[in-house]
Amino acid sequence: MKQNLKTSTLCVHGGYEPANGEPRQLPIVQSTTFKYDNTEEMALLFDLKKEGYFYTRLQNPTNDAVAKKIAQLEGGVGALLTSSGQAANFFAVLNICEAGDHFVTSNEIYGGTYNLFGVTLKKMGIECTFVNQDDSEEIIQKAFKKNTKLLFGETISNPGCKVLDIEKFAKIAHNNGVPLIVDNTFATPINCRPFEWGCDIVTHSTTKYMDGHATQVGGCIVDSGNFNWEKYHDKYPGLTTPDESYHGLTYTKSFGKMAYTTKLVSQLMRDLGAIPAPQNAFLLNLGLETLHLRMKKHCDNALKIAEFLNNDKRVAWVNYPDLKDNPQYECTRKYLPNGSCGVLAFGLVGNRQTAVDFMDSLQLVSIVTHVADAKTCVLHPASHTHRQLSDEQLKDAGIAPDLIRLSVGIEDPDDIIEDIKNALDKIG
Ligand code: PLP
Repeated sequence: MKQNLKTSTLCVHGGYEPANGEPRQLPIVQSTTFKYDNTEEMALLFDLKKEGYFYTRLQNPTNDAVAKKIAQLEGGVGALLTSSGQAANFFAVLNICEAGDHFVTSNEIYGGTYNLFGVTLKKMGIECTFVNQDDSEEIIQKAFKKNTKLLFGETISNPGCKVLDIEKFAKIAHNNGVPLIVDNTFATPINCRPFEWGCDIVTHSTTKYMDGHATQVGGCIVDSGNFNWEKYHDKYPGLTTPDESYHGLTYTKSFGKMAYTTKLVSQLMRDLGAIPAPQNAFLLNLGLETLHLRMKKHCDNALKIAEFLNNDKRVAWVNYPDLKDNPQYECTRKYLPNGSCGVLAFGLVGNRQTAVDFMDSLQLVSIVTHVADAKTCVLHPASHTHRQLSDEQLKDAGIAPDLIRLSVGIEDPDDIIEDIKNALDKIG
């Protein structure tokens, strides 16, 4: 294929190039295992001395093609699909942290990730410090310790819709000799490519816009290949010293820029096995083929609805990064010049019950846990996704108890507005 294809072309063609007479659409290789004629050939694969497929938990042609497409879209050197976005963030951290290590993360992150980092990883001996991403570099710097291994944030936070100053975070991370990992789920590489702003590793819940039709749960980790692990040799022994489970192979020596991705596949996937089914990777790929078209429509629709809500007296506040009066408007223009995403947050005049009554009155817009797909949906995080957080933690994560998260789909915006208007009329 020609080099330097534009993003929209990569959405359609990336990752898979059929040879003469091969299927036009990415084939689903629904096979756990792969046959070889002699033992020696298979042994070379096990020793990572030869490339090839032997067991789908490690690699599968369908999964690899989709991972490659996402790597191309993000501008990375390598990528790995995981069975969920949760698994992607877990593996991205675990690949460079072990018991006794520490990392720093923005507190404006998805509730599931907050729990993974603050509770589950802690039980495994990996501790983190939550910081306010809008604090100054000097304040955030104070969270770093000798055993800090990475800095983490979300391009656009779920559900607060806060935009991350990626350059600032990258600078802080690199001043401390650690990589920046950014969860780019809501922006997608259509609207922001974090590697261009100094981020080192990107994660995704592909369950969201990338799939776009709520058909599969999945995740992805993409490596820019830019972080110099060898420069911090003693800090990242898992990458820079021999791996006893691979006959003393050292990832940085044997794989260079692919060290991080190779370790993810050959060590974490081998041992923990959180792969997507090839069927799911196929569905994800169908979604990716139209990602560029859908993101534009999601953003156009969301802006119209945010403007409508902003002008209605029954609405107390609206947070959508693309609104001109949003405090983050400048930051949004810098990192997301073509629009942020279809998700917005707002609160109604009244109390918590007002939010519930409003949501129960919606007809076209449905109440679902999900977010970021073709159909407009709504959620009250304090009663749903974030219900495990205390009021204090909710506040720390930038989530007001009255916050309604609206995920604007790709329907006709007039129909969405009509439904919201009718529901507002019912609550007065
Ligand atoms: N990251 C973000 C930003 C999310 O919004 C979500 C889920 O909503 C996740 C990660 C977790 O992804 P999954 O639900 O695919 O496990």
